[in-house]
Amino acid sequence: MTHGTHSNYAHGCRCPFCKDAHREYIEKATRDRAYYGPSLGSATNYRAMLRRLTLPEMTLAEIAHETGIKLSTLEDIRAGRSGKVQRRTRDALDAFALTLPTEREDAV
Ligand SMILES: [Zn+2]
Repeated sequence: MTHGTHSNYAHGCRCPFCKDAHREYIEKATRDRAYYGPSLGSATNYRAMLRRLTLPEMTLAEIAHETGIKLSTLEDIRAGRSGKVQRRTRDALDAFALTLPTEREDAV
């Protein structure tokens, strides 16, 4: 057990060092949330996006390669197994969507 860490606090230690670390952890999380938005966002839009993109022009593996997101993560999103998506995954998919020439739904 290392004192002065949030994880030690989470395991029940209430020494002054761990309390300090916990307070800093909460403050940072609060700042990050205010700045970046919630760390987990709804998967609904991304699920729709992945289903649209992968029929049939692009495979999920290609999207994983382009975005650096793990293939299993994309599979979970597309299959609806993930209700929430991490911020870095959302950011990567948002950035990727911007590189696409057109939205497929426009072409229908
Ligand atoms: Zn401690």
